[in-house]
Amino acid sequence: MTARLPKPGELDPIETASRDEISALQLSRLQWSLKHAYDNVPHHKKAFDEKGVHPDDLKSLSDLARFPFMTKTALREQYPFGLFAVPRDKVLRLHASSGTTGKSIVVGYTAGDLDNWANLMARSIRAAGGRAGDMLHNAYGYGMFTGGLGAHAGAERLGCTVVPMSGGQTEKQVQQILDFRPEIIMVTPSYSLVIAEEFERLGVAPEDISLKIGIFGAEPWGQGMRLEIERKLGIDAIDIYGLTEVMGPGVASECIETKDGPVIWEDHFYPEIIDPETGAVLPDGEEGELVFTSLCKEAFPVIRYRTRDLTRLLPPTARSFRRMSKITGRSDDMLIVRGVNVFPSQIEEQILRDRRLTGNYQIYLSRDGHLDNVTLRCELQRALSGKLSNAEVQAIANELQHHIKTIIGISTQVQVLAFKAIPRSVTGKARRVLDERPKQS
Ligand code: ADP
Repeated sequence: MTARLPKPGELDPIETASRDEISALQLSRLQWSLKHAYDNVPHHKKAFDEKGVHPDDLKSLSDLARFPFMTKTALREQYPFGLFAVPRDKVLRLHASSGTTGKSIVVGYTAGDLDNWANLMARSIRAAGGRAGDMLHNAYGYGMFTGGLGAHAGAERLGCTVVPMSGGQTEKQVQQILDFRPEIIMVTPSYSLVIAEEFERLGVAPEDISLKIGIFGAEPWGQGMRLEIERKLGIDAIDIYGLTEVMGPGVASECIETKDGPVIWEDHFYPEIIDPETGAVLPDGEEGELVFTSLCKEAFPVIRYRTRDLTRLLPPTARSFRRMSKITGRSDDMLIVRGVNVFPSQIEEQILRDRRLTGNYQIYLSRDGHLDNVTLRCELQRALSGKLSNAEVQAIANELQHHIKTIIGISTQVQVLAFKAIPRSVTGKARRVLDERPKQS
């Protein structure tokens, strides 16, 4: 569809403000946020004192580099409410991260925090091309996960009709989309492909699906996946980024007119990119670990929170705020295969170069003696499945194996399976990597 460009007056004034105005706002908010954390959270006071810094030391934005980082470990140690900066009775809502890697992290929101979150999500949906009056099918999971309720509040704030579908029940999701005819869908990119397959099964062509825009996040997805989703659903696929610790979805979101990486809502979150080894702040444009400091959060301020997400800060385009490039991976997602660092997203990119394959794949890692073995399972598109000879299927596998070897530099065993041979993520994030190597002690 032709991108719905924002009309004059439709954006928040700060979205198009000068960089000087943005920096001035960030500095005053940062001073408030550091003081708020220091005065109200013993963990932050102790960490600042140990580093010999005080909130009054922040005279310019670059002074932030002197302050201590917050890590996921610190968050877990304070489970459940140790990092809250307001009395519990001022907390209107709790959420938690899924805790895929250990004990979950609980976060809280005051009335003001929920209001800001709804506004930022509304801003994100608008950046994606959504407008008041649109119908939005929300297939993010409702519950402790921030996706469902976060998207819900933003869509209502913008003035959309929300269908609070949550995840799962694919056939019902699709039937409802056919009956209600929403323009927008919000869901994880991997589950959007499951929905697309159900349309395919029913014989509904992409151009007959009412959806125009999809807003996808909560897991990494590359450019190849974007094209695959756009083709299968006949929509514009927009990237939204966020994380529970920092707020939830809507920390950064892409603009439909440029689709060039999520715009960081810098009036609420101050981003830095650091070298993950040394902690040194890197200049814009260099790849490293993304770190956020919240500028307005009351219940759960984060100060230099290390996200473990690897990306780059890019100059402003459609808005005055900086962007981030698509996440290449999480520092804890990186696979080291026979000494070569590989992100699942790199493998995904190679798979999706081949239109004959779907975006569903799994990487199995095993160890044979001292050597790592990588088996990559991917699958044929529905239209080809069962129609090719064994030799033709093998040729596809060999070709992919060759690309991965020459471009990424690792040897793999590629298996090309029938359509749907790989389990789908039903409600949320896809499980791409199965590491069966013995743990190193
Ligand atoms: P959990 O998975 O622990 O429940 P979250 O839902 O808060 O926690 O997940 C946040 C993480 O999901 C981010 O740190 C990032 O790694 C990933 N993520 C979220 N949105 C995107 C996106 N648009 N692109 C890539 N990764 C994303």
